[in-house]
Order: sequence, then C-alpha cells, then structure tokens
Amino acid sequence: MEIAIIAHDGMKAEMVQFLNKNKPLLDKEHINLVSTGTTGSKAEKAGFKVNKMLSGPLGGDAQIAARVAEGKTQMVFFFKDPLASHAHEADINMLIRVCDVHNVPLATNPATAELLLQAISQQP
Ligand code: PGA
Repeated sequence: MEIAIIAHDGMKAEMVQFLNKNKPLLDKEHINLVSTGTTGSKAEKAGFKVNKMLSGPLGGDAQIAARVAEGKTQMVFFFKDPLASHAHEADINMLIRVCDVHNVPLATNPATAELLLQAISQQP
C-alpha cells in the first residue's frame, strides 16, 4: 500500500510527530511512503524511507494527485494549515478533488490520519 504524506509548513512538526508516534505501523513492509519534497526531507531526517516528489508549490501536490488518479497511491495524509493561504491553492483543491473522484481515503489532520492507520492495521 502506498500512502502519500504532505504537510504545509505550519503542520510539518505535527507530521513528524505523527510519523514518529506511528513508526511501528508505518515501517511495515507493505507500506510505502510517497511525499512532497520538503515534507519528505523531514520524514527522512526522522528515519523514514520516502519516495519524494517535487515540493508542493512546485507541483508536488499535482504529482501526488496523478498517482492517486493512476491508482498508485491508496491513501493520503495531507496536513493542511488551516490558518495560512497558499500560492498553490489550485493544486491543493485539485488533490482533494481527485481523492474524492477516486474514493481514496484522505486525512487532512492528524486525528483522522490516526484513525485511518488504526483501520488498516486491523486488516488481516
Ligand atoms: P512541501 O509541500 O512538502 O514541499 O513543503 C507541501 C505543500 O505545500 O503542499
């Protein structure tokens, strides 16, 4: 299963905290992480193996949306900063829309991501 991780600047610390908290689950062999550039670098520093795309504002969200559309990414953890505006708002909305079009689980905050991870950890 491929899980995409993306965090806006104001949420990167939360993402690293979330990843560390759930390391035993995310380190499982059948889970591959893909990310936008800077989020991926932070995850690598925390010891995770990540397939990094471009940085979000440079098209990374769009690349991940394409992976969702192609069926390569099965789950998205997208920690959006609700208190900031973004130059690449169009790409952000596009990624959310593509997840909805393809019925791919999308968590936009750590609490929801945690619930999704719990759900997949209970799968046989
Ligand atoms: P980043 O992109 O991980 O490269 O910072 C995230 C985003 O802004 O969508």
